[in-house]
Amino acid sequence: MAAGEARQWLSRIRTLDRPARFRIMNVCGGHERSISHGGLRSVLPEGLELIPGPGCPVCVCPEEDVYQAIRLALDEGVILLAFGDMLRVPVNVPRSEPRSLEAARGAGGDVRPLASPREALRVARENPERPVVFFAAGFETTMAPVAALLLEGLPDNLFVLLSGRRTWPAVAMLLGSDEAGFDALVAPGHVSAVMGPEEWAFVAEEHGLPVAVAGFEPESLLAAFHSVLRQHQAGRPALDNCYPQVVRPGGNPTARRCLDRAFEITAANWRGIGAIPDSGYALREAFAAHDARRQFPNHHDPARRRAGEMPPGCDCAKVVLGRIYPDQCRLFGSACRPRHPVGPCMVSDEGACRIWWAAGGASAARA
Ligand code: SF4
Repeated sequence: MAAGEARQWLSRIRTLDRPARFRIMNVCGGHERSISHGGLRSVLPEGLELIPGPGCPVCVCPEEDVYQAIRLALDEGVILLAFGDMLRVPVNVPRSEPRSLEAARGAGGDVRPLASPREALRVARENPERPVVFFAAGFETTMAPVAALLLEGLPDNLFVLLSGRRTWPAVAMLLGSDEAGFDALVAPGHVSAVMGPEEWAFVAEEHGLPVAVAGFEPESLLAAFHSVLRQHQAGRPALDNCYPQVVRPGGNPTARRCLDRAFEITAANWRGIGAIPDSGYALREAFAAHDARRQFPNHHDPARRRAGEMPPGCDCAKVVLGRIYPDQCRLFGSACRPRHPVGPCMVSDEGACRIWWAAGGASAARA
């Protein structure tokens, strides 16, 4: 049924008048995974380009935050909890020092992977005599349950090292730059389910570019590609929701209330990109007692903002901005592979380099 639906969208796309070149950006690791693993690039008409953009929260997590987490694990005797794919993200330190949370664990740090924010509660309750730091990095979909946890009330020994990011300001930053690098946007379905599809209306209203919200299934993505092409053809860009079964106007009011009550909106650093206004979350004053940045201030090193960009030779900064495809990095598949990642885009399941590699290498993802 779904395959038939996908075929129908594909034939509709093929019958549309198209410009010789049309670049559609996605900002969601799940979208890029479906596109690459589903071979969508290979079935679309020539000239339609699908560009992965800033859709990986682990890839853009500031190096200084990862470094701070490593130092907390090593110097403060805390139990350091982080989502699994954060453990292998490399930082720029001399070879003699642990360059990831995984290496910090090898060096004696108590670093533990967790799959959901609620696990942090369990670990803190099971270890009341020890400080527990939850390194919480992610986009809105991850931040909403973290906010709910804070509002519920944390045990005294549980602290949050927050590295939450909002997706639309990164797209606004790209569109405000000299070279946006895309002609239409496919907006992330799950972020829109939380925040509401309206967050993406600015793409059409302020920048005159087509935009459509999509889910992860190929038929939803193809419907969104069709939508943005049709908007372009008609010369009437407007936000379209191609994932209405999950994405409702206004998003999820409960989740949004939690985010508002737990966090302030702040400018935030994105690894490889720099500071983006209004793109980050910070714990509100009411949660200062659980804010790892305040409770362990000795381990925040602002100098790392200069030292801590992408590793030497790694083009992740260009990959996350959609300036190049993963295989255009000269280290892709040679010095940099999932077993020996050089940059964060090859570490995370949401990273474009990792996704392209897992899809069967550059030729398969790009075909
Ligand atoms: S292939 Fe590796 S080194 Fe190159 S951009 Fe991707 S993660 Fe960075």
